[in-house]
Amino acid sequence: MTSASGNATGLEVLLSTLKSSHDVKSTLSILQILDELLSAGTVKRISYMISKGGSEALLHTLVNMTRIFPPNYYVLLLLMHLIVKVGQRDRKFGQKAQEIGAIDETLKLLQLSLPQPKYVTPCLWVLRIYASNAATGAALGKSGIMSLLFKLISPYTTRNTKAIRAATEALSALLKSKWNSRRALDNGYIQWLLQLYQDWHQRDTQNKYISIHKALLNCIRNITNTAMGKKAFLQADGMRVLLDTSRACGSTTDLQPIVKLATQIMRKCHPKQSLPLLTVSSYYSFVLPNTVDSQILDCPSTIPQEHVAVKENDGEEDEDNTVNEESGYNEDEDDLETDLSRLKPSPQLDRPVEELKQYERLCPELIGYFQRLVDEQNSGQESVPFPTFFATLGPQRHKTFREWREDVIEEVSPVPHNPLGSRGTRQVAFGWSDSEEESGSKLLIKSGCAPVQSSSQHLVRPSCGCTLNPSKHQIKKANRNRPRSGEDSPKLSTHFQEVWNIRGESVAGDKSIGFLSQSWTIGRDYRPQDTERKLSEMRREMIPFHDPYVYTIMAEKTQSVTDYQTLAFPDYWGHAALLCQEPMTGQWCGHQRDKIFEDIQRLVNPGDLLNKVVFDIESPSLVTSADDVSLKFNSNFESGNLRKAIQIRKYEYDLILNADVNTDLQHQWFYFKLSGMKAGIPYRLNIINCEKTNSQFNYGMQPVMYSVHEALCGRAHWVRVGSDIYYYKNHYCRQSAATRGQKETSYYTLTFTITFLHSKDVCYLAYHYPYTYSTLMTHLHLLQESLNSDQIYFRHQILCSTLGGNKCPVITVTANPGSHPEELHQFWNRQYVVLTARVHPGESNASWVMKGTLEFLMSDDAIARSLRDSYIFKIIPMLNPDGVINGCHRCSLSGEDLNRQWSEPNPDLHPTVYHTKGLLSYLRSIGKTPLVYCDYHGHSRKKNVFMYGCSLKETLWQARSSIDTTTLKEDIGYRTIPKVLDKISPAFAINHCCFLVQKSREATARVVVWREIGVLRSYTMESTYCGCDQGKYKGLQLGTRELEEMGAKFCAGLLKLKKDEWSCGNQLITEDDGLLDFDNELQNDRHVSHSDVFVDDEPPCPEEVDYYTDNSTEEDDDPIDLATELNVSSDDELEPRK
Ligand SMILES: [Zn+2]
Repeated sequence: MTSASGNATGLEVLLSTLKSSHDVKSTLSILQILDELLSAGTVKRISYMISKGGSEALLHTLVNMTRIFPPNYYVLLLLMHLIVKVGQRDRKFGQKAQEIGAIDETLKLLQLSLPQPKYVTPCLWVLRIYASNAATGAALGKSGIMSLLFKLISPYTTRNTKAIRAATEALSALLKSKWNSRRALDNGYIQWLLQLYQDWHQRDTQNKYISIHKALLNCIRNITNTAMGKKAFLQADGMRVLLDTSRACGSTTDLQPIVKLATQIMRKCHPKQSLPLLTVSSYYSFVLPNTVDSQILDCPSTIPQEHVAVKENDGEEDEDNTVNEESGYNEDEDDLETDLSRLKPSPQLDRPVEELKQYERLCPELIGYFQRLVDEQNSGQESVPFPTFFATLGPQRHKTFREWREDVIEEVSPVPHNPLGSRGTRQVAFGWSDSEEESGSKLLIKSGCAPVQSSSQHLVRPSCGCTLNPSKHQIKKANRNRPRSGEDSPKLSTHFQEVWNIRGESVAGDKSIGFLSQSWTIGRDYRPQDTERKLSEMRREMIPFHDPYVYTIMAEKTQSVTDYQTLAFPDYWGHAALLCQEPMTGQWCGHQRDKIFEDIQRLVNPGDLLNKVVFDIESPSLVTSADDVSLKFNSNFESGNLRKAIQIRKYEYDLILNADVNTDLQHQWFYFKLSGMKAGIPYRLNIINCEKTNSQFNYGMQPVMYSVHEALCGRAHWVRVGSDIYYYKNHYCRQSAATRGQKETSYYTLTFTITFLHSKDVCYLAYHYPYTYSTLMTHLHLLQESLNSDQIYFRHQILCSTLGGNKCPVITVTANPGSHPEELHQFWNRQYVVLTARVHPGESNASWVMKGTLEFLMSDDAIARSLRDSYIFKIIPMLNPDGVINGCHRCSLSGEDLNRQWSEPNPDLHPTVYHTKGLLSYLRSIGKTPLVYCDYHGHSRKKNVFMYGCSLKETLWQARSSIDTTTLKEDIGYRTIPKVLDKISPAFAINHCCFLVQKSREATARVVVWREIGVLRSYTMESTYCGCDQGKYKGLQLGTRELEEMGAKFCAGLLKLKKDEWSCGNQLITEDDGLLDFDNELQNDRHVSHSDVFVDDEPPCPEEVDYYTDNSTEEDDDPIDLATELNVSSDDELEPRK
């Protein structure tokens, strides 16, 4: 401290002496002292000197010294060296120089020094420092300095390169001013700069002067910051120049900064375009119930795209317009709730108690036992105290126990009583369907099998873009009392026959494929019946809880807005989890640039492109000829999403996704079929209308693919596929509904390359493992069929109908109580656990986690038994069936995010949320507030599985609230489950968990259930689409097996709560101790990260991506060291410095 203050005094004295000195000798000695002081070179010292008036002192000295004639370059060189060193750390340096009058003096000195290049260079660097300030730069520009600089910058030479670099750097700084930039454009300098750059690029073959290449590019970058500059750049064929030169750089390491800069310029100047669509709003719309006015339908985005002309930014310096697109997202601390009254659960019903009585029917387990007790009391059995909540229920409404038991078995029978539905129009989309129908038919005939004729009515709805040839392969109706899974029905057999024939035929010509030989061997003299039986047996063994036959029945009943007419083969046939986990891909270094160059090449050489639309839901009649070698696309099935496919080059396609129904947003989920491929050829697919600013696709995530060929060879798996996967901003944009008229929003491209194993295969590609509504209904049906009803109480009921007319299931699982009064008493004390999933339809991972939960709860596992004994599970496995069915990513048919409607759900618009909240409220009203509520989600920008919860204190701490938290009491029970899961579940990461309450999240399930229903342990559980970066699965992608495991582990984690709740003494506890091996460590309060204030669905990824934006980011230039700059190298003609 003492030395610092001592220095301060000394320094101040020194500086003030310097400032007033007109004497060369004393000036020189002070400058030498200062140089010595700063030679240690720490930025801190320079800043300190600036704070003590160092900049002013140096500038005054410059003025003083330049007035001495002839100039003493020995002093001046040292002075300018110090000016550059200090000036580049002083933001106001240019302004100070203007005030002190140093600018004019510097310009004079420059003029004077022109004959001697070695003195020109330092002057130029000093000017560059001045010009860092835009206002000073503009003032400098008016002095005519630019034309002088242009004269100094020459085509390639090995002479005076230091001065050339300094002049180019100075020019680049000057061009940051719009005024200067405009002058430069008026003088046609852009053309000239491009020529210079090209010249240096071509002739500097040894890359000795990369700094000059870079400085020239910086000039181009700055001059193209205006709309006028971009236009001039394009007119001067700048794209081609930069593309060709960048490509020529190859992967030479030294040149990468140049290529990066050139790429930024090209992307910035690439003209913005609208998507090749008439309108970006969803192709499908849904008329909402009358109760609502039509404004939602009157979505502004239905304005045809041409009316929303894309505007260039007008002359302004480009701003980063990537400010996140997520509505309501706010990462600020301001978003944290600090109102104490809103940070404490304050349960209140949002509707009259009478209205809640309707939910009594969803708790048949309570009603039944109530009646049973009445019966028992009447018959004089030992009395068991009545739970208080029964007082609210009218006993006359209750069924007798016997009726209730029957009800349990009969109430919901997912298989229809009538022969399958009335529609009967859907096909299983095998290899021959859709565009290949004709050839498929030929195959059938060739192989001696007549197409199955359908007797059912065929519905054609051209308005939805779905046409269907009704002649073949229709799912035949079947009797309800079909045999259980032991044996396939004759109709299903017909299916297999067809499958077999098709595959047998198409494979026959290609002996190398070795159909069937790899997984199950069949002799040459096999009979098709054997094959078919084996195929079906094998499938059943590999894929439990799935049945193609049941699936077709369920799919028939599913109502879609898209009115799909076919079944996707993977959903029909089933998916077997892979036995091994697939590694994350890592990053595909370097090739992203090549992809971007290919994109830019389209602009430079438009004639090379095919631009052939090969699929368009708006033109279903799009017919491709028989000899067409293009890929064929289709997404006319449940959860399918593809709007348009355009063949760009022979093996490259642009794909456009459809927006969520009734919106013009939410392009992320995709699921489509493709066929017509050739084996062994890399196909590049680009999804060009993604919206998120970043994606796990940049960090190791791959899409999934299902090959029909492979499935019929016994490998019925969705597998991760694709190489060269990149996600980056492209040149397509639109004006978003939210910011209409103000700003355009850019789209992003997801590009990947796929090489198919088999020619003429039929493959399905998806964003993530599909899990359709019909799959769920199939699963629930098969779970019920497998039920051991002596032990397990399982009830499948309907929560409500959705807007689209589908039934939203609610499942109850618990253990059947015995008949002993003590057991009944225990039954009353069981707490409720309420689980929901798939409110966001694109988050299919949530469904796989839920599948794991359901199967585990129904299993014979000891933990599962214990859980059923302890809890009553109410599960709503799909909160947004309509969204799932119609291939949406985020919304329901109302075009809204249902997870933002929990505060005030509308019974007509948000029925599933309204009634789920109703059920929760009902439970609360009868004194049965759930112990745990968890909503399963998927997360596209983070790895691992983690949870969001709600904590009063953590929120206040994070918000740095002044409220004294020591006096506040909070039950830290909300931490137990995450802690347990961190121990027992390999994919779970507690460090990613967060327990903050944000204002922007106050209408989500988690916050509303916590605040209004009063559930302390109310969570969102997020599962990655990608993989893990910690734990046992580090470096691996999550497959369905791991997702299902997560669902099972979540349940296992609940056992810990039971132990906590029922303290010692209960016999069950010692029993369970063996089941879950908990350490005492769990009791220790492990640190839970507070750092992550990004809560819920998909906050921006903190990781930065190369080419994340097309705007040139203003990187901090490397600090200039004039001493180095002035060092003489052999190729410079400067004389050695004294
Ligand atoms: Zn979600």
